[in-house]
Amino acid sequence: MVQGITKREREVTDINEIKEILDKSLIVHVGMVDDGEPYVVPMNYGYTLEDSELCIYLHGATVGRKLDIIRKNPKVFFEMECDVTPFEGKVACQYGTTYASVMGKGTAEVLEDVNEKIDGLTKFMKTQTGKDFTFDEKMVSIVSVIKITAKDFTAKKRPKPMGLK
Ligand SMILES: Cc1cc2nc3c(=O)[nH]c(=O)nc-3n(C[C@H](O)[C@H](O)[C@H](O)COP(=O)(O)OP(=O)(O)OC[C@H]3O[C@@H](n4cnc5c(N)ncnc54)[C@H](O)[C@@H]3O)c2cc1C
Repeated sequence: MVQGITKREREVTDINEIKEILDKSLIVHVGMVDDGEPYVVPMNYGYTLEDSELCIYLHGATVGRKLDIIRKNPKVFFEMECDVTPFEGKVACQYGTTYASVMGKGTAEVLEDVNEKIDGLTKFMKTQTGKDFTFDEKMVSIVSVIKITAKDFTAKKRPKPMGLK
């Protein structure tokens, strides 16, 4: 289980607020474990969030280190953030950064079924652009599509403190 958020007042539990963070972030950092060594890649993503299950869709080349790792060890940890703006204070410890973020653990799979790949890429483009695109078998054959399924994730928001610029 993902450990609970220490600063509880910053936790986001409202599903619509979580979706807003996922809609805005657009880049996910996916952490993997490669024979005991950590490996993290930034990626664009698409998502669905239904019945407390978050599915993240990634696309990329058909070869590479992350695909090799996921095939060996599908356990991943992910993080995405948005609304990142630094703010100032009168003393050093009042400086900070606003943010909204989601992180969690999931299981990754490299999709092989053509229809699942088309579905994943459609969701990917919807999240990235807000538009509906169509794909055919030929288009999906030249890319890999990774699906991460996560039931265990948390969201957190740090607004700008009152009275600071
Ligand atoms: C903002 C952003 C968005 C991206 N979106 C996508 C996406 O949607 N799809 C996609 O396929 N890729 C995306 N990338 C590139 C992605 O981070 C990886 O470089 C790429 O997916 C290849 O990963 P791999 O493990 O197969 O790399 P490989 O080419 O197999 O990696 C070999 C080695 O290259 C180095 N390396 C790999 N990636 C990076 C990197 N990003 N920066 C520095 N060194 C690196 C590492 O040391 C790694 O061990 C994005 C990158 C950024 C910064």
